[in-house]
Amino acid sequence: MKWYESDVDAVEELVHTDKQNGLSESEAKKRISKFGYNQLAEGKKVSALSLFLSQFKDFMVFVLLVATFISGLLGEYIDAVAISAIIFLNALLGYYQERRAEKSLEALKQLSSPQTTVLRDGEWRKVPSQELVVGDIVKFTSGSRIGADLRLIRSDGVEIEESALTGESVPVSKQVERIEGDLVELGDQANIAFMGTLVTRGSGVGIVIGTGMNTAMGQIAGLLESAPQQVTPLQRRLEQLGKILIVCALGLTVLVVALGIMQGHDMYKMFLAGVSLAVAAIPEGLPAIVTVALSLGVQRMIKRKAIVRRLSAVETLGCASVICSDKTGTMTQNKMTVTTIYASGKKWSVTGTGYQPEGCFFNGGTEIRVSQEKALQQLLSFGLLVNHANIAEKNAEYVLDGDPTEGALVVAAMKAGLSREPLLEQYTVVHEFPFDSKRKMMSMVVEDENGDRYVVTKGAPDILLQKSEWALWHERKQPMSAKIKKSLEGSIESMGGQALRTIAVGFKPLRSKHESYTINSLEKDLIFVGLFGMIDPPRPEVKNAIRECREAGIKTVMITGDHAITATAIASSLDLLPPGGRVMDGYELSQLSVDELEDVVEDVYVFARVSPEHKLKIVQALQQRGHITAMTGDGVNDAPAIKAADIGISMGTTGTDVAKEASALVLMDDNFATIKEAIKEGRNIYENIRKFIRYLLASNVGEILVMLFAMLMALPLPLVPIQILWVNLVTDGLPAMALGMDKPEGDVMKRNPRHPREGVFSRGLGWKVLSRGFLIGLVTLLVFLFTYRGGQNELIHAQTAAFATLVMAQLIHVFDCRSDYSVYHRNPFGNVYLLFAVVSSILLMMAVIYYPPLQPIFHTVSLAAHDWLLILGLAGIPTFVFAGKLLSNK
Ligand code: ATP
Repeated sequence: MKWYESDVDAVEELVHTDKQNGLSESEAKKRISKFGYNQLAEGKKVSALSLFLSQFKDFMVFVLLVATFISGLLGEYIDAVAISAIIFLNALLGYYQERRAEKSLEALKQLSSPQTTVLRDGEWRKVPSQELVVGDIVKFTSGSRIGADLRLIRSDGVEIEESALTGESVPVSKQVERIEGDLVELGDQANIAFMGTLVTRGSGVGIVIGTGMNTAMGQIAGLLESAPQQVTPLQRRLEQLGKILIVCALGLTVLVVALGIMQGHDMYKMFLAGVSLAVAAIPEGLPAIVTVALSLGVQRMIKRKAIVRRLSAVETLGCASVICSDKTGTMTQNKMTVTTIYASGKKWSVTGTGYQPEGCFFNGGTEIRVSQEKALQQLLSFGLLVNHANIAEKNAEYVLDGDPTEGALVVAAMKAGLSREPLLEQYTVVHEFPFDSKRKMMSMVVEDENGDRYVVTKGAPDILLQKSEWALWHERKQPMSAKIKKSLEGSIESMGGQALRTIAVGFKPLRSKHESYTINSLEKDLIFVGLFGMIDPPRPEVKNAIRECREAGIKTVMITGDHAITATAIASSLDLLPPGGRVMDGYELSQLSVDELEDVVEDVYVFARVSPEHKLKIVQALQQRGHITAMTGDGVNDAPAIKAADIGISMGTTGTDVAKEASALVLMDDNFATIKEAIKEGRNIYENIRKFIRYLLASNVGEILVMLFAMLMALPLPLVPIQILWVNLVTDGLPAMALGMDKPEGDVMKRNPRHPREGVFSRGLGWKVLSRGFLIGLVTLLVFLFTYRGGQNELIHAQTAAFATLVMAQLIHVFDCRSDYSVYHRNPFGNVYLLFAVVSSILLMMAVIYYPPLQPIFHTVSLAAHDWLLILGLAGIPTFVFAGKLLSNK
């Protein structure tokens, strides 16, 4: 079927759809169940079994398995079975952790998957692109990624970049008209928009003609490679650290074994103990727990409405030192209401709130009838004409469809009793030059009933003023005199000073009908009609969020296309601009090189009247000063800056697909305060990772040292292999995972950002690991020494006591790991997961010690009350010795 050859009506009929109302929701569901989801087939995933088996790939685990097998052959059945069971459980835990990390990453991918605006049951709604079906009517604008193959039915200056499909990076312009030809190349099928290609300009509508593998992309793509797993810098660093730790642990283990054999211990027993020690002491599970902690943090971020697209962003968030944020919609509500109007030398105020089209017009305190004010009526009509927004009543509420700035103009016109239909009867739109944030204007060429043509322009008043040679003044067209200009400028400034966003309207008659219209020739010599001032209230939570960021050593910078005076007023109301803080406008910014900007950028808090292109320069200057920069954006032109920033942030509701694809973080609610929450969570995740690294390594140091000390002192083994493996599985594993879910310490947002190159062991962590680990080993040995008085029965008793001491010392120490300061700093009941992990570890230890069937397996005997006095007294030492003010490391 050659879709490009068919005209729109034929396509509509062929795919059984209706251009006006689209498909019904139930029909779409039927088509999904019949033809499947709109997705490309993915490559094979790792199966559950091979993931489980991969847990045994670790060399030491393999050696342990072989050693266990040999001990089984030698008749040590119980040991062999018990050790195998523990290895199996360990693998199960590893499998569970990896699966969980994988699942949450998968869920994340789903959440940030693209959406498409589609007409269903006569209403435009957003659906995940994978739910598109053949026959759907789809709407797109510049910045959209096309979700399925479409036959275009409307194209307002659409240009699409099809390099993903054709390799050609120059955008192609698209049309609606059918194309003749037998073998038209994909690149020349100008009335088709292909799945996966990028709209760079204009807006349009199309009918879905192919989905999933039945698209041009599906046919060339074949099977999609499943995306490679993301590795964050911290994970990479931990992998390297892991290698060093393996060497250390193995070296020490070899030493323990060698010493043991020299002291006359049974060689085979020493070997088994050594391998068990190596398995326990090598933190092979660390990268998996880190992934779990990262992905759990990511889940918490989702609850706070921040979606992480790149896992590495979680770490970088904790280092952010500057947030550059858009103003409109991110710091403000993007709910615009016109409150002031200035035209023809007269000023009006407008009452009413939000998009409710009810309000009155006042002039000097007296209510007026708009029909009697010609200039006002003309301004409102033009504002309504050069406009695509619609206000509709839904469930007794007025909702906006379109751009809020334009919506405010529609509402103001409705308050005056005007509506668009009669205007469109009076004026036919001939041509349109859409708004872009570089020009900051939008124009339409219209033709009136007499066939006369006009250009009507609306845009930023200061720019429109430069383009106007005339003004409607006292209801007459007059040359733009210095006096009129001054009056208009005064009005722009006064509105800006009240934090109002301003927008002006101008027009001019066009002489000939057949002019070839260009933006430059149209948007000049205009007749200035008047200007609107609209409020866009700040989001209430933003002021506090900016303060919290300041306390956390993070500077907030406002970037806006609005007038400098408006931006300054809003920045001041948000306490963003400190005394001496500078406001820089786009003009000044464009005069500076990146290096020159670098010299002054620390003082600038507001960038006003900037174009998206300027954002890249700002990011570069900040980065050259050593800042870790977060940058927000929503449009196509924001993408380079979002990509260049250390943390690129895009808007979930108003952001384009391009901006989202470039970003590492998506704000579901477009809200600045969400960035602060994400940073807080980013810092917390990093601290939690440090907490369990500290816990695991200190425990491992303790385990190795107790064995080493014993061998140095020519003592029997203080712990048997199965006990070592048990401690590794239960006492180390569970609490470490619970630490990964800890809440942040109270001052997490009162500290300065972390340096991005800060090592894992900085801020005293290395000292803590070694000192606490040393003491854990020491007290375990002491208990062993105090309880061992020779003889086999005594040995089992002493080993049981040492085992209990090791477990208890670690379980007490885990509470110390929750704080950077001391164990007293935090409520021990503050983390329920940790309590659960600790209590269950204790109960399991009790079972191993007191439950008779388990005693021979774990080489234990029941302990008496006085044993516990000794055990608990000494087990607290590694934690409480450092808890006093003097000895505390902080
Ligand atoms: P930011 O979101 O970065 O804070 P912004 O998005 O408000 O800034 P722009 O949308 O680029 O910035 O708007 C800049 C100026 O362009 C506005 O102050 C307004 O005068 C004008 N403007 C905004 N929207 C339109 C529009 N739809 N038509 C005409 N002019 C507009």
